Amino acid sequence: MARKGASLPTLSSPDRVVFPDVGITKRDVFAYYEAVADRLLEDTGERLVSVVRCPDGIEGERFFQKHLGASFGAAVHRVEIAENDGKRAEYAWIDDLAGVLSLAQMNVIEFHPWGSRVASLEKPDRVIFDLDPDPGVTWPKVKTAAKEMRDALAERGLQSFARMTGGKGVHLVVPIAKRYSWDQARTFCDRFAHDFEARFPTRYVATASKAKREGRIFIDWLRNGRGATAVASWSLRARPGAPVAMPVTWDEFTTLRAPDRFKLRDALKRIDARIWDDASAKTQRLPKLE
Ligand code: ATP
Ligand code: MN
Ligand code: MN
Repeated sequence: MARKGASLPTLSSPDRVVFPDVGITKRDVFAYYEAVADRLLEDTGERLVSVVRCPDGIEGERFFQKHLGASFGAAVHRVEIAENDGKRAEYAWIDDLAGVLSLAQMNVIEFHPWGSRVASLEKPDRVIFDLDPDPGVTWPKVKTAAKEMRDALAERGLQSFARMTGGKGVHLVVPIAKRYSWDQARTFCDRFAHDFEARFPTRYVATASKAKREGRIFIDWLRNGRGATAVASWSLRARPGAPVAMPVTWDEFTTLRAPDRFKLRDALKRIDARIWDDASAKTQRLPKLE
């Protein structure tokens, strides 16, 4: 998908250490994004994207940035849109290798796209359930939860795909037909998460309040409103060890030992793997929930 468009940016400060614990430099990060650009763009291409930048490496100051200016270069396209409060603001999107590398050159470590594409900004084409375990919840319990959620979605006729976040949890990504408003998509996720909590109240919680989360898994359905983002598949995470947010098959998922199991070098080895077959071609309809 990465097209030859704008010329590729020149890498500066290649020897700067970005992940000190594993000795990964800016050159390594740039080379990583060059290698995985096509996979990253399957997820992030043509979506408004926010980024996490770490100009001094992951132990330095970090910036979660939604608005990227002209200094990012011509391959980082910009578009002015109305934010939810009605104010106009400029957002960025990329669609080729030059765009990916322009961001890597600007010390972007993480890519966080919207749930819609620029050509149909008001119609999301996927929703995401973000499973956030309380610190006391063990990984096997998170795995059980993800599979229960997969099955509950399947009962409603929805196929879901698993992504290891590279952090503490899992995302279930559900491709949907581009026919619902943000409000409709968000309402579906809200109801679905609350139904799930009602079925298994000792294990899950669908409200963001910290107090209720103790020992439970928070089903973060709030990734699905207009302007909300979630980390992209194949994005590095700005965390020790250089983990990657990695799509997995459900078969693989059952065997995985930890949500940050895939590090930069593991990811490079599976660039050609078939993982989420045809996920982007899915046109699933959201069921009505009572
Ligand atoms: P984990 O598995 O560790 O939960 P995660 O990527 O799901 O990893 P969360 O904290 O659950 O992390 O989700 C945070 C999401 O919120 C991010 O993926 C990001 O897209 C979005 N976000 C919105 N604003 C910010 C911000 N200021 N800083 C970081 N993330 C933000
Ligand atoms: Mn999460
Ligand atoms: Mn979350």
